[in-house]
This record gives sequence, structure tokens and C-alpha cells, in this order.
Amino acid sequence: MRDRFDRDINYMRISVTDRCNLRCRYCMPDGIEQVPHGDILRYEEILRIAQAAVQAGITRFKVTGGEPLARPGVSDLVRMLKEIPGTEQVTLTTNGVLLARALPALTQAGLDAVNISLDTTDRERFREITGFDALEEVLTSIDAALETAMRVKLNVVPLAGVNEEDWLPLVRLARDRTLDVRFIEMMPIGCGRGFTPVSNVDVFEKIRAVFPDPEEDVTIHGNGPARYIRIAGFKGSIGFISAIHGKFCSSCNRIRLTATGALKPCLCYGDSVDVREILRSMPRDAADRALRDALREAVLSKPRAHRFEDTRFITEQKRMVSIGG
Ligand code: SAM
Ligand code: SF4
Repeated sequence: MRDRFDRDINYMRISVTDRCNLRCRYCMPDGIEQVPHGDILRYEEILRIAQAAVQAGITRFKVTGGEPLARPGVSDLVRMLKEIPGTEQVTLTTNGVLLARALPALTQAGLDAVNISLDTTDRERFREITGFDALEEVLTSIDAALETAMRVKLNVVPLAGVNEEDWLPLVRLARDRTLDVRFIEMMPIGCGRGFTPVSNVDVFEKIRAVFPDPEEDVTIHGNGPARYIRIAGFKGSIGFISAIHGKFCSSCNRIRLTATGALKPCLCYGDSVDVREILRSMPRDAADRALRDALREAVLSKPRAHRFEDTRFITEQKRMVSIGG
């Protein structure tokens, strides 16, 4: 479906829960209130939204959270999404802690790719950032995922004064393994506002100082706005998702569905279209029609661009843990 700025909106990020088994300081520190279970979309509700989305040309889905693997039965959802006629791709973003044991079911369900968030390879810093001593589990999951046919990407959010010096061992993971390591500029959403982001321009310069002459990697790696480089001798690539210092809104292709059933046109703004109420209050046929209209409304209300550079214009009050990144 095309939006008002002629962008093809073909990708939906689906948050299946606002719960998480970690407590990343910039996302969901201790003490954050969670919504009641009854407010979270059931899988069959998500499926109906996804079916309407596919009819509207949105054919790629990312299952996210909170932590999606903290919700029982996520592989069933992946399978059901894959079975919708017209679905092109279903991928998952996870913190990796529970991934190794979930991989057989996810593979069977047809998951196409997995993104694993990892902000440091230092055990103590991992604990400081996430609140848990779970680095080993994540590293085991990364290697287990590499044993499957799925494409594997790592997501790193560098924070000034926290993990900004940890980039080198993270980059080296792409030297020794066939995976992409992507640096994501932190966006001033939710608890992220309390941290200072690190510019990807600086990360790139640091990488170039150690690995001279990286080449731009123009091959397609996925659905997103990452720009990639290749370093000689590396098995994987290094990516940069630079929402602040490399604004990519003109090629935005996405819409987000929160765990409570809000369709979000843009991360920066609080505006959303509630689809849970449609599903829970209308007879099936009327609801399916209303769902299609709601999707259209959400796509057509996508703004031209975010305004993260000027915090006065950021109206989103939700935390990233309930939006899904
Ligand atoms: N729990 C899963 C995980 O950690 O991958 C999925 C949900 S998490 C919200 C998705 C991604 O959003 C993670 O890679 C996380 O680092 C990132 N994230 C959280 N807050 C962010 C922020 N303010 N700016 C940029 N990325 C953020
Ligand atoms: Fe949980 Fe992911 Fe947020 Fe960390 S980034 S608290 S793992 S949802």
C-alpha cells in the first residue's frame, strides 16, 4: 500500500508482549508497570490483523516484544503468519536468552531470519545493562542460530559512557561468524531519553581506524534501513541503522502493531489507530472491513519524517518495550 509520500508500506512489526525476561536500562528498567493480560492481543487477533495487512500489500512481518520468546506459543504464531497466502517473510527480534531452546520449533514454523540484540560481549557489562547474568545464554543462542538456515543479525545499541567502548569485540563477531553486526543509534523514546546516544558516524570512524578500506556492501540484507560495509577477511557484514545521523524516513516501509493493538504510523509520534476495539466489539464481517479501513488510515497518516532531533516534537509517550523497536 502506498502512503501519501509514495512510499510502499509492505512491512509490519508486531509486538506480541510488553513483558520481558531482561531489564535493559534504556528500554525496560525495573519497576515499569505492565498492562493487564486481557489488554494484550490474542494470537488469533494478531492473525486477523495480519491477514488484513497481507490483503493491503503488507507481506513481511517482524515478531517482536517486549521479549517475544517470553510469551508461550510464539512459534505457533510464526507458523500461522507464514501460512497466510501472500506472506513473503516472517522474522523475529529477540534478546536471545531463550532462543537456543526455541530454535527447533521456530525452524519448523518456517521462521526466515532472526535478529539478536547484544550490546556488549563483556559479561559484567551485560549484567549492568540488562540486569541479568545471561551473556553465555545469548552467545550459545547465536551459535545455535548459525547452525540453522536462518539469516542471523546482531543489533547493538551503543550508549555513551555505558558500552561505547565495546564495539571492537562486537565487530569481530562478524569476522569469525556468518552474521551481520548492526549498530543502531538510540532514539529518544521512553527510557532511552535518559541516555546519550552514540553517533554511527563516530562508530564508523572507530571501525575504519582499525580496519582500513571497508567497502560499501550494496547487497540486500533485509527489510530495513541499515547501510552495510564489508571488511576484507570478514565472514559477515557490519551495518549501521542511523535514525538520527542518517535519517532514512524517505524510504520508510513500515507500520507497527503494539501488543495492545495500536497501529503506529511512526515511532516519533503518539498517534495510533486502535484495532483491538474493532476486533472485540464488532461482528466478524464488519470487523474485517473496519480492519482494512484502519490499516489504510494508519498508512495514510504516516508523517513525512520523524523529528527526533528536536525533542519538543516527540509526542510518543510509550516505552520501547511496548512498541517493539
Ligand atoms: N526483546 C527483543 C530484543 O531485545 O531484541 C525485542 C524488543 S526490543 C524493544 C527491540 C530492539 O529495540 C532491541 O534491539 C533494543 O536494543 C532496541 N531498542 C530499545 N530501546 C531503543 C531505543 N530507545 N532506541 C533504539 N533502539 C532501542
Ligand atoms: Fe527486553 Fe529487548 Fe527491551 Fe532489553 S531491549 S528490556 S531485552 S524488550
